[in-house]
Amino acid sequence: MDGVIATLTAAWKHLVRREGAQPDTELFQTSIMGALLQGQYEGSMSYATLALHGDFGIGTFNDLDGEMIAFDGRFYQLRSDGSVRTVEPKQLTPFALVTFFKPAEVINIDSESDQAAVATRIEQSSSANLFTAIKLEGHFRKMTTRTVEVQSKPFPPLIEAAAHEKTLSFSQIEGTIIGFRTPAYAQGIGVPGLHLHFLSRDERSGGHVLSYSLDSGNLQLMPLHTFHLELPIAAEFVGSTLSLDSFSKDVKEVEGG
Ligand code: ZN
Repeated sequence: MDGVIATLTAAWKHLVRREGAQPDTELFQTSIMGALLQGQYEGSMSYATLALHGDFGIGTFNDLDGEMIAFDGRFYQLRSDGSVRTVEPKQLTPFALVTFFKPAEVINIDSESDQAAVATRIEQSSSANLFTAIKLEGHFRKMTTRTVEVQSKPFPPLIEAAAHEKTLSFSQIEGTIIGFRTPAYAQGIGVPGLHLHFLSRDERSGGHVLSYSLDSGNLQLMPLHTFHLELPIAAEFVGSTLSLDSFSKDVKEVEGG
């Protein structure tokens, strides 16, 4: 098993180092949150292509088959049955954000902090007007995550799909949070505020972060000044009516903001 993972990692490293990718401070995103909210869960972008744009980030899979978290060059699929597996390059995504992470600021948090206190640290050390990549490694006193469940056609809107999501709670768990702070003006494109995913250190559990408290940890932040948004070519996207009317209510309900 170790040999398989080592081989896959080597394959990813080869892909992400290909010439033409932007290695510095670019955030790359495929599709938009507004399309995902409407039930557009079928993308044409493979993880092999996504990895050319970054090896760190979050997202989901076609048919909404779980949560994605990527860091240190590895991509993981966290499924609603609680399983975790390494993503295969040929898998497809309808929505993901990635970058090549190089922290600009490292903050050690050595006292117990709740979610709001960590959010305040992030807000103090980043701009509300930039996208910021976030990595938080630590020992979590509590962690509650959710994982969306694979959907079949006709796809329901995300708010309905999320009503059946699986929620998991952990206590005294080590692991890594990966995510982004998104500006309010990007509503419709992303999830304004913090959007975070978690993977336990033993790589056996995780998901989209709903709530947590931290005993101690290491917070790393990277401001992103370039935003590369790739929009779907599918008729489903091109011909759909995307409206911001219910976006903020729906995204808050679905993402737990
Ligand atoms: Zn998420």
